[in-house]
Amino acid sequence: MQVFRTVLGDVPIETSGRILTHEHLLYGYPGAELDHRTVLDYDAAIGRVAKQVRAGMTDYGYGTLVDMTPPEVGRHPQFLVDVAKQTGLNVVAITGFFPERMGIPYYWRRQTREELTEFFVRDLTEGMVFAWQQTPYKAGAIKIATGQESVTPAPSPRGANGRHVHEVEDRVIRAAAHAAMQVGCGINTHIDPMDFQVTNPGREQLEILDEEGMDLSRVIIGHAFVPPQLEMMREVLKMGANVQLDHIGIPWRVGSAEELDEAMANALLELLSDGYLDRIVLSFDRWFFNPRSTVTDDDPQLANEKVDLSYMFTSWVPRLKSKGITDEQLDAIMIHNPRRILSIKV
Ligand SMILES: [Zn+2]
Repeated sequence: MQVFRTVLGDVPIETSGRILTHEHLLYGYPGAELDHRTVLDYDAAIGRVAKQVRAGMTDYGYGTLVDMTPPEVGRHPQFLVDVAKQTGLNVVAITGFFPERMGIPYYWRRQTREELTEFFVRDLTEGMVFAWQQTPYKAGAIKIATGQESVTPAPSPRGANGRHVHEVEDRVIRAAAHAAMQVGCGINTHIDPMDFQVTNPGREQLEILDEEGMDLSRVIIGHAFVPPQLEMMREVLKMGANVQLDHIGIPWRVGSAEELDEAMANALLELLSDGYLDRIVLSFDRWFFNPRSTVTDDDPQLANEKVDLSYMFTSWVPRLKSKGITDEQLDAIMIHNPRRILSIKV
């Protein structure tokens, strides 16, 4: 049976509803959990997130969400469980790490490839650890990440291996491949669009996964459309992997949401005419709750929080339909493709 491994246990993929493949229910950069200004009013935060989720499920048929928050970026297993319990949403947590420049705590940088693999496998099969405690809540997919994003964004320098991938990121990616192959789960990735200036970061990630024997049809290259680089996406697709269209309504590294949405919609049409309907997934990359937003309302990054779940069907889908995209194509992208790529056989 093919299942999604959710924080409340395995569920058949037929229960998925529409699937968002890259979101964050609770999000804070590494260290945010130590800040007096971000102390969480837990019940209020759960209430706020659950309200957004319930509206999205009732009005738009969302049923499954992959929470792509890595352990060092505020991953909070109990928070995900409480949202799932209060809403009925299938919440898939991930194991893995953020890019080396922004994440991968020192402790983990010291681990061998084998130790990293064991960490991922145990998150996926025994349950995640939170604040020194074992929880029974399992992750259901793996996140890998590369890129230079920082307080002063710049393209990644060439690394020791000849790729624009940092040394520890390279080890993490190899470990992720082994864990995914052991468990039979999918991998979803983060690339930084800044790296489009110097390389095709998705191809580099896939090369490393491929060197370890990973089935690339179980890999999604995230942030691939921000903004769209058609030739880079085609290169990734020709290698057998999938691409994720995300940042709908969220202008990251581009002028405006309108500009990005229109460019992404046109690129999507191109890939569909190339015959890649079954290799595309869709998500916002929303931050449902970022405690930092209670501190600075004018932070431009809070665009990730401001876009509403309804935007998909009030703005994005009408834009696609005006270009001739059909309901069947949307179902492939929002239901059938993520079921195939991110489910686990049990
Ligand atoms: Zn994200």
